[in-house]
Amino acid sequence: MPTDPSTVPQTTAPLRWPVEPAQGGWYTDAEQAALTLAFHDSAPWRTGWKAAAHESALEVAFSAYTGASCAVAFNSGGTGLEMVLHALQLAPGDEVISCAINFVGAHIAVIGQGGTLILAEPDPLTLNLDPSDAEQRMSPRTRAILVTHWNGASADIRPFLQLADRHPHPVHGPPVVIVDAARACGGRTPSGAVVGAEGWATVFSFESKKLMTTLGQGGMVTTNDEDLAARLRRLRTYGRSEHWGTNQLMTKAQAAVGLVQLARLDGMNDARITQAHQRTRRLAGIDGLTLPPTLHGRRHLYYRYNLLVPPSWAGEGRNALMEVLAAEYGLGSIINDPPTYLGHQLVRAHTAQRCIRAEQLAARLLCPCSHPLISAAEEADICDAIRAATATVARTYGP
Ligand SMILES: *Cc1c(COP(=O)(O)O)cnc(C)c1O
Repeated sequence: MPTDPSTVPQTTAPLRWPVEPAQGGWYTDAEQAALTLAFHDSAPWRTGWKAAAHESALEVAFSAYTGASCAVAFNSGGTGLEMVLHALQLAPGDEVISCAINFVGAHIAVIGQGGTLILAEPDPLTLNLDPSDAEQRMSPRTRAILVTHWNGASADIRPFLQLADRHPHPVHGPPVVIVDAARACGGRTPSGAVVGAEGWATVFSFESKKLMTTLGQGGMVTTNDEDLAARLRRLRTYGRSEHWGTNQLMTKAQAAVGLVQLARLDGMNDARITQAHQRTRRLAGIDGLTLPPTLHGRRHLYYRYNLLVPPSWAGEGRNALMEVLAAEYGLGSIINDPPTYLGHQLVRAHTAQRCIRAEQLAARLLCPCSHPLISAAEEADICDAIRAATATVARTYGP
């Protein structure tokens, strides 16, 4: 197996634009006011930081926003994912299919809950799980299909629901579709649904880098399955005197800020989409550079602005482009993300088969810094830098 391609040598020069933004959205006076109110509200010893009312207000607002009948808040997306998988009660040998290009946390959660991780290939355009490759990897042991909306490009959930129906588990029936929407909060899928309304469960993250954030950490699970919602509520509060569980509650301050962020989510996403479309227009026509698909109707939120270099640049040429961008223009970029088994030993130890298409695509992938608060003048500089750096690298690696 090749080594981790995410370890690209980085320049030591200070960057004008970081490798990745530390905050996905931004805060206003409204978040600060909500935070101050929660602080003062919690100071009396009779009240304290008890979060139930704030948390359920955020849950009600989030389920109304997504159209899912239930929303359950968590202290992170990672724990939400882990608890959804826990609720499946996976037996040894039970399989969960997921795209090889992914955030490692999703795959660690499958392994942590005793599942056998079955990695599948991405769609070459969106880098989302390819339904036809997923189907080839389904078996009578498949319990779940884990679909990640990759870097904000919403996947179509319907083909996966059909796959599940076509390949029922002999005991448990159709595998469930679990959606990782940590990078797609506020998006729409091709069916027109708001992300979070389809599938058995959808997991969101409000960690600092994500599209809406709750003071650094936070998460939410939406579902239309009332039993699942009840089980998740038990799991996050010590099993409610009956079952196994632990403490995974969000704090009052996080929920209060989350309510404000949710109300502002569409506005923050619109700014991001407008800027990404403008970047796509500016970068059009650069030889060999594949730009992210312009999926209309909020189907691409551009959590990351993905570029693919030509196949002949895979690996070395891509790394050279990242280095030129950083060293000569101060533009940081990140590879979001290589196949998880290349970057994480535990996943590697649990992976029987490589995903060659995923490896080839990841070797061509880079995401130069993008953020809605980058000014128009800076955005013009960034696009000029990408154009010029690509021309520089083309002199060595060909167009
Ligand atoms: C951030 C992220 C997660 C995990 O969310 P946390 O809240 O950071 O635990 C899961 N999946 C994807 C795709 C992510 O980007």
